[in-house]
Amino acid sequence: MISAEDALAAIHAHARVLGAEPIPLGRSVDRVLAADVFAATALPPFDNSAMDGFALRAADLKDATPQAPVELTVLETVRAGQTGLLCVGPGEAVRIMTGAPLPRGADSVVMVELTEPGAGGKVRLAGSTRARSHVRARGEDVREGSLLLEKGALLRPCDIALLAAQGITEVPAVRLPRVAVLATGDELIDYRDEPAAGRIRNSNGPALLAALSRWGLPAENLGIAPDEPAALRETLADALARADVLVVTGGVSVGDFDCTKAVFAGLGLREIFWKVAIKPGKPLYFGALEAPDGACKLAFGLPGNPIAALVCLEEFVRPALETLQGHAPKHPSYHLSGTADNDYPKPADRLQYLFCRARPSPGGYALDVIRPQGSAMLGMASRANALALAPAGVDRVRAGDVLRFRWLK
Ligand code: AMP
Ligand code: MG
Repeated sequence: MISAEDALAAIHAHARVLGAEPIPLGRSVDRVLAADVFAATALPPFDNSAMDGFALRAADLKDATPQAPVELTVLETVRAGQTGLLCVGPGEAVRIMTGAPLPRGADSVVMVELTEPGAGGKVRLAGSTRARSHVRARGEDVREGSLLLEKGALLRPCDIALLAAQGITEVPAVRLPRVAVLATGDELIDYRDEPAAGRIRNSNGPALLAALSRWGLPAENLGIAPDEPAALRETLADALARADVLVVTGGVSVGDFDCTKAVFAGLGLREIFWKVAIKPGKPLYFGALEAPDGACKLAFGLPGNPIAALVCLEEFVRPALETLQGHAPKHPSYHLSGTADNDYPKPADRLQYLFCRARPSPGGYALDVIRPQGSAMLGMASRANALALAPAGVDRVRAGDVLRFRWLK
């Protein structure tokens, strides 16, 4: 048994950022840039007004005061999207809207709220202004040719805005890992079918696919395979040709018919670890296959017990998927802490993920540790809203202990 920490380190050591693919900008949010992107144009692309008001020459208002206002002749109105026809000379102004190009000759904008209509269509100004005031200068935000976004950047909506403003329609992104999901077990039937005696519905498949789809990952559903090495091998060999990551549930324990690990080995996967000091999820298997092109395919053998499978998916598979996509791994993240309401015995040699009901309490959160809990207890997990860490090295959680937890979403 290796520790959860060592297991995660081994996973990160084998997960390599995948290659690049071009992505239309409109579908690139949350993707990672596979190359630096440089500015094709300056932003703003031209000097323009930051206010609705009047474009004028600051020198004309040098002596303007409430006692001695200055009146300027208004030449025309420039709307956003238009360019003015006229050049602003001494004693002149142009009525201008936010975003409209600054007319030639003008060097400043005074907001409309600080002006009054003057005689004969003129505009009256009762104060001075500085040159460049309320002018958004060409290139003040982004210089042409400058580095816009660095390779490795996670594209957020504000980055999409930046790229769109540049007219960039496609970006080089790290491609998404292709994941294949297979449930193994002679007892399993599709959840839409009626089980005969002794059979149960495959709940792992739908749960794992739901999690992957929520993480935005394309997953291939390989369905159900029996505990037969030949059949399992055929399904997995075929999937391995296409997938970057195989996620198989069941058959990784020490049962007489458990054959997942042997089949992985037969496909050339090297066992990196098997058995992690965690509860639930102890039989977790992780293997890797170095491909000739330098890529590294990954295989996870998750325990068949549904709650163990889901915990392992979140705690160990998800970090691998993040690394493959070029994300700085942010899971698992237990950044909240809460105080246990009750005692709960646990194996001292393992880290336990405890299903809890967390609720706000004065000064933080209180954690009601659900009793009993087990790796096959689906109803129990659905009653929980939080997963808390009970560290290895202690044989029980005691009421009053402070535990780190995360929401179960
Ligand atoms: P295994 O890891 O194959 O020994 O399976 C452990 C337990 O999980 C057994 O009780 C299985 O019946 C159950 N199990 C395995 N696979 C699934 C699945 N896909 N859906 C629901 N339960 C499963
Ligand atoms: Mg089984």
